[in-house]
Amino acid sequence: VSSSAEEVVASYLERIEKSNINAFTCIAEDAIEQAKKVDSLDIEGPLAGVPIAIKDNISTKGLSTTCSSAILEGYVPPYDAHVIERLRKAGAVIIGKSNMDEFGMGTSTETSTYGPTLNPWDTERVAGGSSGGSAAAVAAGQVPVSLGSDTGGSVRCPAAFCGAVGLKPTYGAVSRYGLVSYANSLEQIGPLANRVEDVAALMDVIGTYDNRDSTCVKHNAGYTDTLQDGVDGLKIGVPDEYFGEGIDDNVQKLVWDAIGKFEDMGAEYTKVSMPNTPYALAAYYIIAMSEASSNLARFDGTRYGNRSEGENWHMMASKTRQEKFGAEVKRRILLGTYALSAGYHDKYYLKALKVRTLVKQDFERAFEDVDVLMAPTMPTPAFKIGEKMDDPLSLYLSDVNTVPINLAGVPSISVPCGFSEGLPVGLQVIGNYFDEATILKAAHSFE
Ligand code: GLN
Repeated sequence: VSSSAEEVVASYLERIEKSNINAFTCIAEDAIEQAKKVDSLDIEGPLAGVPIAIKDNISTKGLSTTCSSAILEGYVPPYDAHVIERLRKAGAVIIGKSNMDEFGMGTSTETSTYGPTLNPWDTERVAGGSSGGSAAAVAAGQVPVSLGSDTGGSVRCPAAFCGAVGLKPTYGAVSRYGLVSYANSLEQIGPLANRVEDVAALMDVIGTYDNRDSTCVKHNAGYTDTLQDGVDGLKIGVPDEYFGEGIDDNVQKLVWDAIGKFEDMGAEYTKVSMPNTPYALAAYYIIAMSEASSNLARFDGTRYGNRSEGENWHMMASKTRQEKFGAEVKRRILLGTYALSAGYHDKYYLKALKVRTLVKQDFERAFEDVDVLMAPTMPTPAFKIGEKMDDPLSLYLSDVNTVPINLAGVPSISVPCGFSEGLPVGLQVIGNYFDEATILKAAHSFE
């Protein structure tokens, strides 16, 4: 039975309206209009008439973009991000903006000024972050597909916690034009869905070259071409360091079970060592906070969104930043400024960049011998809302298996691999630079 785009979008809007998981920061008032246009234009292709949720840090023309921060309340971008232009052209319907940690800073979507997104599997638990709304909306069937962004795990973590599929593309594979920067040398926009096929179809649309992002690389796309090829002869590397202290026993077991299934399908595995992994987390947070302190300097009440009153510009700018940034954002701006300041720059920032190179070399060495790496996405299943909010360090620690991938810039996909006490667990499949095709194929054969 074929339905019109208008019917499809209307039925998804109804589902969103009935839900109480707080996955959206706003709904597009023109969603039905967009769908009618798709119907009348007779657009063909896999995304024609498909409703999509967009993380609220991706610029959408005429539709509020707040990064879930009070400082951007009321900001409506005058232009579309590259990925949005591509989606519209493919006939996708931008149905709304999804909730996130403020400016992408978090692992649970609890730092959002709109409150946390609830995990559809257990509403007392977090959806993961920072793209929690994008993952929860997909998992709850409120949209078939969504976009998130991944600076240090923000697509893969919520995908794992919500039982969805999420891809962090190779750095440079997807244009960041129109993505509000948190830590620009680490992040990529990435797709989420319930099936690998849909993630690949989204990549075909958004993963095209764009000269407005100077770090975007011309490459051969074709993300869906080899999806059905199977994993016979695939060489899997299992990095010991990703199964260390703090990684839940059940999670480890489910990931090993998954690797067993790959063996049954004709793949083989070897253990590999990535000795610089233990230093990645600290290096990531120094680099991410340093870049954030610079990127967020533009929010001073002058140009975008919301402002506080002050008797002169200086008072207005400082009161705006004091009152409208949340606690976690301020903590990171302060720590990042400290790490970059004269006298400490060499000790922290430069040291972190050196570690980054070593982490990258670990990946390059591993991929001389294997096609993909497999590891747990997150150390545990979704935790309780509020459980880690008073202890930022314990939240940072849960990024231990996702941040090395961003430091290196390689692609990685999280795909569901079972349940631990009723909560979904994610398997992470990491690939070589611009070899999304292989990890998509592997993840697809495992579904
Ligand atoms: N949790 C990590 C952080 O807070 C990653 C966030 C992200 O990928 N945007 O920086």
